[in-house]
Amino acid sequence: MRVIDLRSDTVTRPTSEMRRAMAEAQVGDDVLGDDPTVKELERAAAARVGKEAALYVPSGTMANLLALLLACGRGEQAVVGSESHILHHEALGAPALGGIHLAVVPNDERGRLLPDPLEAALRAGPALVCLENTHNRCGGAAVSLSHTREVAGRAHAAGSAVHVDGARLFNAALALETDAAALVADADTASFCFSKGLGAPIGSVLCGPGELIGRARGLRRQLGGGMRQAGVIAAGALYALEHHIERLAEDHQNARLLARGLARVPGIRIDPDAVESNLVFFEVDGPDPRAFRAALSEAGVLASGTAPHRVRMATHLGVSASDVEEALLRTRRAVESLPAAVAR
Ligand SMILES: *Cc1c(COP(=O)(O)O)cnc(C)c1O
Repeated sequence: MRVIDLRSDTVTRPTSEMRRAMAEAQVGDDVLGDDPTVKELERAAAARVGKEAALYVPSGTMANLLALLLACGRGEQAVVGSESHILHHEALGAPALGGIHLAVVPNDERGRLLPDPLEAALRAGPALVCLENTHNRCGGAAVSLSHTREVAGRAHAAGSAVHVDGARLFNAALALETDAAALVADADTASFCFSKGLGAPIGSVLCGPGELIGRARGLRRQLGGGMRQAGVIAAGALYALEHHIERLAEDHQNARLLARGLARVPGIRIDPDAVESNLVFFEVDGPDPRAFRAALSEAGVLASGTAPHRVRMATHLGVSASDVEEALLRTRRAVESLPAAVAR
């Protein structure tokens, strides 16, 4: 039985074309500024999001950490959403390594920052305000251009810089039918991942003004993120940037197909209309949600979750429409295999 892995869009393997690009990459020592492929990737990434410069880093976590370290001195504050990746999934690097206080503002269910608490937080004079787009824990919601503008306007008026954690920025741009550059035009810095829906094996990028990114390069070195012949992996990222953005539409279609199918399974609660990108969240009725996850993985479908009752499935380039159909059959079987109290 072929396992259908819907845990995350990070589980993709490089395609053979991508592997060829990586094998044939021109490389040099990037810490010495000698790697032409990394330089090309950084130029192309910055251009894609309309920023002056970019820095290739090992992970989205490091890109966000650099944005926080650049904007905030020790003892200063950064505003983050209550459901943000920075708050929940980055091992609290900014407080631990930068002495930065994370001032938490509630997210609404679509990943926006609530206006009144934001206003209150801004009165404390934070050095940075962070947004996330698409918003992972808020259902993969695409955060609108108007919300980004509104938040950036208020933040800048209060003297704070703005960072957009755009791990899945191109998914957001697709969902909103706009371009990625427009979505981060009002932000000082923006990051995005090559290792999520774009399907590259490693790496993310921090984009922003040239002077700032120059300083980020020094900070990356401090964090141990200076990479030598990084062109080998940068070539995969460059390939992804050039060939895998358009195909995200397929992932979004498959996510909608998945959501509509799940809505027909008794015992599963989901609003298919809330699925805007490649992430599908749903809840399972019953006293023991772990039994569902166990039955699901037994049936050959892997999913993840942010709470016991809350299951997440992600579509990506390793998942076809027929995989989705098969995953739905297996999910239905898994629910039916549960004790009656759970399946109802
Ligand atoms: C995945 C992700 C990141 C970065 O994750 P890494 O695993 O460190 O690359 C940052 N923000 C969001 C919203 C993410 O989903």
